[in-house]
Amino acid sequence: MAGPEGDTYSEHPGPADDVVAEGGFRARLTELLAEVSREALEGEDLEAVLRHIVDCLVRNLPVGIASIILLDDEGTTFIQEVWAGELALSSTDLAPNWPVTIGAAGRCARTGQAQLITDVATDPDYVPGNPAVLSEYLVPIRHRARLHGVLNIETTRADFFDAQARSVFDAIAVQVAGAIHLSRVVAELETANRKLELLSMMDGLTGIANRRCFDQRLAAEWEWLQGEGRELALVLVDADAFKPLNDAHGHLYGDECLRELARICTRFADGPDDLVARFGGEELVLLLPGRDLTAASTLAEWIRREVEAVAMPHTNSQVAPYVTVSAGVSAVRPTKAVSPEHLIDAADRALYAAKAQGRNRVVVRSVV
Ligand code: GH3
Ligand code: MG
Ligand code: MG
Repeated sequence: MAGPEGDTYSEHPGPADDVVAEGGFRARLTELLAEVSREALEGEDLEAVLRHIVDCLVRNLPVGIASIILLDDEGTTFIQEVWAGELALSSTDLAPNWPVTIGAAGRCARTGQAQLITDVATDPDYVPGNPAVLSEYLVPIRHRARLHGVLNIETTRADFFDAQARSVFDAIAVQVAGAIHLSRVVAELETANRKLELLSMMDGLTGIANRRCFDQRLAAEWEWLQGEGRELALVLVDADAFKPLNDAHGHLYGDECLRELARICTRFADGPDDLVARFGGEELVLLLPGRDLTAASTLAEWIRREVEAVAMPHTNSQVAPYVTVSAGVSAVRPTKAVSPEHLIDAADRALYAAKAQGRNRVVVRSVV
């Protein structure tokens, strides 16, 4: 009889003659293990893999219920059960989340030992799922030191779990552990890749998009708006006298001013497809799909005024005693005849003109 803390299975009898006599039982177990191994290695989605494995067990063996019960990261609570069975489960079956302090599966998880229960009626921890069940075998699903859950097999036979059957279920639990480990590693890699992808598109100082992101978005918007027949506007925003600012107030203060400029631009470029990026140095760029020259220059003027209003001190500027910006604006309806470089070039020429005209101003240039 299985005691509360992990009686082992060694004293239990072998399978009934009829089970053994069902010609090729051993071959069937081997085949089953091969199928489980294949599924564990090749299956795409973890839940589908686990479902396939429990279905396969119930289909191929005189097993009433087969389930894989997964543990949380701490190993203290069962959080998911993938179940297959010919026997219906009664309402006394446990809820999806239950602590390892409960049930024979909990005992298996707590002790980390396989549990053989030859007579479920005498087991103090067994939680009845179906009254027809007579015996149960539970195997820890462990990959290296990490316990992922428990493989649970229940049958209406009292003598089904002989050494051979147990060793097959032990091996299946190893395969399941491998599948779970693989799927968790893949999930972790995907998350890490997503983070890297985001980081590779972000400017470290300001937190806005970087030049690489801008280049990609410009190419994509160009393509898209060409099909739509709508305009694309671009604003280059360049801090005035930034070298003298660094010289007078220090580089760290310059960095803080750049962050503030990025925040202001982001606040104003609030269209769903607008992008604010660091174009390089103390120069930011606004990509404004669907806006024309007038709309873009209005937005640039709001930004210029807001920068003035924030009044970040600048004691070394020929323009004003606070930080100011100049902006060059251009817009175009993308066609095959022009390229994104033409748009950038027009905005750049407009910015140059704004600087030449005394700075702290917005100048527009159409693409020629
Ligand atoms: P202009 O009004 O003509 O734009 O003058 P400027 O001094 O802003 O232009 P210039 O191109 O001569 O100098 C740009 C300066 O911006 C030089 C560089 O040290 C500073 N700069 C570029 N990137 C950063 C940065 O990340 N942080 C800080 N603090 N300064 C930067
Ligand atoms: Mg500058
Ligand atoms: Mg510059």
